[in-house]
Amino acid sequence: MLQKLDKNTKEWYNNKTKYLPGAVCSMVTKYIKWENNKGFCPEELEAAKELILTGGLVAFPTETVYGLGGNALSEEAAKKIYAAKGRPSDNPLIAHIADIEALNLLVDEVPEKGKRLINVFWPGPLTMIFKKKASVPYGTTGGLDTVAVRMPDHPAAAAFLRAVSVPVAAPSANTSGRPSPTLARHVKEDLGGKIDMIIDGGQVGIGIESTIVDLTEDIPVILRPGYITKEMLEKEVGEVRIDKGLIAENVKPKAPGMKYRHYAPKGELTIFEGEQEAVIRHINHLAEEYSEEKVGILATEETKDRYKKGHVICVGSREKGTISKELYRALREFDTWGATFIFAESFSGEPHGEAIMNRLAKAAGQRIVYL
Ligand code: AMP
Ligand code: MG
Repeated sequence: MLQKLDKNTKEWYNNKTKYLPGAVCSMVTKYIKWENNKGFCPEELEAAKELILTGGLVAFPTETVYGLGGNALSEEAAKKIYAAKGRPSDNPLIAHIADIEALNLLVDEVPEKGKRLINVFWPGPLTMIFKKKASVPYGTTGGLDTVAVRMPDHPAAAAFLRAVSVPVAAPSANTSGRPSPTLARHVKEDLGGKIDMIIDGGQVGIGIESTIVDLTEDIPVILRPGYITKEMLEKEVGEVRIDKGLIAENVKPKAPGMKYRHYAPKGELTIFEGEQEAVIRHINHLAEEYSEEKVGILATEETKDRYKKGHVICVGSREKGTISKELYRALREFDTWGATFIFAESFSGEPHGEAIMNRLAKAAGQRIVYL
């Protein structure tokens, strides 16, 4: 049942203009540090808490990417998040919690399969979609009757969320359309002067966004691939489907965010898929052919010395499994360098290759060449 409250009705929300005005870039963004062995300075944590409870925005590290946090129970905070990111307001936010009691503030009932997944995967990189409680504002859910919830597995996020004690709505802390931030300096690049505070917790561990699974139907549906795979979910709850919108071109994805072009560097990115030697040969050939352009090459520890021309950026190591962690940093570096064309190796065969390629293919506007 929809509430009759004027501002909290779906109709009211849907009638609003879809794009909110951009944030004014004039505030002083406070920068604080969380360190592994020291944690927070208590006064600074208190300041972060005050900011959230008075409607401000605080960016914080999680194990996936940095999030831009605001009070998930406040329509006003949600509006500020959309404005700071330049994000369309029909693209819902994920509410972050530190303990299971906080779930009661967002959801009336958790289905059995949801309980099972919570037990196994929380805290961790799994976002679950449930029917929302009436009191959760449509600002947070992008006008939907469902809410996305996650309990992050990062000590800084946990301490921050526990201190504020309200669920915190937090999309990735980047300007909409840019690669997600995996370092505090990425947040500063995009949102410095537009938000109240950045908590610097160093480089994140996983580096790509959480898996999203919808639990509002009997059979859970994956809306966004991530570090937690279909097989891992199926082991716990039986059959799991993948949203058709992720596979078929003419089907609308159920996660509204998946329809937007995402994670894009400014240069034109093309991915080359095939046997490693053929990929290296082909990219070398193209770099030669495009020598008048600013050519960037996305390579790995193992292959970076094999390229003769172009600006090679290393996206971690296949052997050490660090590709996901370094992906967005590498894409941002092409922008800083000013690449006009980027040629990338493919990572589909790597562990978590499906999630990595979901992001990289989007950044490439699905431009993949099979050799
Ligand atoms: P981000 O926080 O940037 O990783 O984006 C969060 C994504 O979660 C959005 O882009 C949506 O696609 C998805 N999402 C959040 N809430 C819902 C929901 N209630 N139903 C479906 N997808 C959702
Ligand atoms: Mg995002």
